[in-house]
Amino acid sequence: MPNAPITKALPRYDEAINIALAQVTALDQTETLRLRDCVDRVLAKPVKADRDLPPFNRSALDGYALNAHAFSANRTWPVVGTIAAGAEPGPAVPSDACVAIATGAPLPAGLNVVIAHERSDRGDRSGKPVTFSVDAVEAGQGVHQRGADANEGDMLIESHVVIGPQHIGLAATVGVDQMEVVCKPTAHVITTGDEVVMPPIQPAPHQIRNSNGPQTSALLHDMGADVVSHEHLADDFETVMRALEKATSTSHLVITVGGVSAGDRDHVPGALAQLGMKTLIKGCAMQPGRPVLIGQCGKSLVVGLPGNPVSALVCSTLFIWPLIRQLLGLQPELPWRNVRLDTDVKPNAKRQAFRPARVNGNTAHVPPWAGSGDLSHTAQTNGVVALPRQTEMMTEGMMLPFVAWPSMR
Ligand code: AMP
Ligand code: MG
Repeated sequence: MPNAPITKALPRYDEAINIALAQVTALDQTETLRLRDCVDRVLAKPVKADRDLPPFNRSALDGYALNAHAFSANRTWPVVGTIAAGAEPGPAVPSDACVAIATGAPLPAGLNVVIAHERSDRGDRSGKPVTFSVDAVEAGQGVHQRGADANEGDMLIESHVVIGPQHIGLAATVGVDQMEVVCKPTAHVITTGDEVVMPPIQPAPHQIRNSNGPQTSALLHDMGADVVSHEHLADDFETVMRALEKATSTSHLVITVGGVSAGDRDHVPGALAQLGMKTLIKGCAMQPGRPVLIGQCGKSLVVGLPGNPVSALVCSTLFIWPLIRQLLGLQPELPWRNVRLDTDVKPNAKRQAFRPARVNGNTAHVPPWAGSGDLSHTAQTNGVVALPRQTEMMTEGMMLPFVAWPSMR
């Protein structure tokens, strides 16, 4: 079914994504997972301290614990005991004596400083007194004080944090062995095109292999979605419509790739229109990505991406990633930062252009490319730069915004 040509002025990228984001609300389903399965998930219920951290005054060093108030330089100290990590602190120690103590061991009552072994003559474990090459000590030195990190009941990990290994460690510290996390949005990927074949079929010379299916599924995974299925469709209106009808009755997200432009065999917009989609974005003044389509249909948020693999990669990053962040209850803004070009690059005079780039430190290299079908040159990139809409060349040394390819953290 031919589609009407786009006539009115298309929104810029920043306008388009904000229009779409304004219609998307965070998912409210949560699930409880074992700690080790929580990395890269979004925390739904905050984690609090079940006791003071540390829970006792612990030695931060291997050395000798004593009472700072009784300290004077050049005296000898009887060693009245040894406290290992994991041992109880034992009885109070007289202020004129010390104990040998290990890192992580509890300080006995009355002692408030630990002097490192390296600052001692290592005195003795068999009763010989110890001397220190230290002129003065301050109470608290060498001691990790009870409650220095957090007090019982303190908030340790706020909800809507993306969980990393350090959060897993902290949760384990306070006895949490499972966490409540936001459910991943489910995603159904539909690729289209009569010219595209799937394994195990060997492509004829005039056919190509399906790169968009695996690529888009991988991107969605890295953005925090749960890809429940991928199907490839022939360019047939009925086929496309039936598949979209089914997909939009189940998944949070339906991502189509290809068949979204205005060609005779581009059936995605027509099929979605027939299914009653509420269109949010139909076209954007960007390159690549001009035909991008976003709407709500059935139970799903639908994003229609152009079929050229680099267009699909760039548009997934720029449109689907913020939308998934919003669904997960995260700030949708992408982590753009300014980088310095090390090459000359030609922008587009009519549309804001986005080009895959390799950023090292603060320096961006934009490889030459043979257009938005060129995944070969894209393999060496780690994100995308935004070029302003202008006729003049962007030259080496100029600054421009860059965002890395999607990841949860
Ligand atoms: P379309 O947006 O459907 O017009 O597709 C544009 C071009 O992208 C096609 O001519 C193909 O060369 C390429 N293409 C489309 N779908 C895929 C796919 N699934 N995998 C690899 N390349 C594709
Ligand atoms: Mg096509």
